[in-house]
Amino acid sequence: MKDWNALEPDKYALVGGHRFTRGRTRPIDRIVIHHNAGVNLTTEDCRDLWNNSREASAHYQVERDGTIGQLVNDGDTAWHAANADINARSIGIEHANIGGPPRWQISDETIENGARLVAALCRGYNLGRPTWGRNVFPHSAYASTSCPHQLAPGGEDHATYMARAQWWFDNWNTPNPSPKEPDMSPEDRALLIETRDLCRFIRDQLAGPGGSGGWPQGGKRTLYDLASAIAEIEGVPNTRDTL
Ligand SMILES: [Zn+2]
Repeated sequence: MKDWNALEPDKYALVGGHRFTRGRTRPIDRIVIHHNAGVNLTTEDCRDLWNNSREASAHYQVERDGTIGQLVNDGDTAWHAANADINARSIGIEHANIGGPPRWQISDETIENGARLVAALCRGYNLGRPTWGRNVFPHSAYASTSCPHQLAPGGEDHATYMARAQWWFDNWNTPNPSPKEPDMSPEDRALLIETRDLCRFIRDQLAGPGGSGGWPQGGKRTLYDLASAIAEIEGVPNTRDTL
């Protein structure tokens, strides 16, 4: 988005007047989530597809790199939920796929900026904290469809998507927010520290404290050099000579 606070998109590719209804008959009270079910579509691709061959539209497209394009202005009614009443009161967000069926994968950038857009819209239209089933709904709530697939409950991106939407809503005014702050469980953190310490121990055993210079007790030799020295004393043939 050019301006998240002002809901100014990165770009516009508005559909023709034959693919949306001017104005709204109801106030905006929800966001409806979609995925393209098409691979690597840009905002312009969606516009052309809808303009030329499908009686449909949505307000936003979140592209694979996170770029957000506007196809129908928020104040107009887009045709995305297959339900006139829901269309009149909702904003429809489409998300690009980076792979086809059956997985219909969505990029991290699309998930992150789609979630941030949900937070921005909830904030901009006073819908409250993004909450699934209260102000954020899947297309499948209103029509017989699997859309939004991975973003729907049970999909691989649903939990991340909603967690990020809530994070952005809760931290809207945080200066320089870190969008990729990993939320690691205490168990995972303990395992990470244990693994790091084990790696250091192995390194020190092999190459001496700190990984350089060898062991003082072994005449500043590494484990390999010590083994070679012992082998020489024991009269074991040097493997380098026999190769
Ligand atoms: Zn849909």
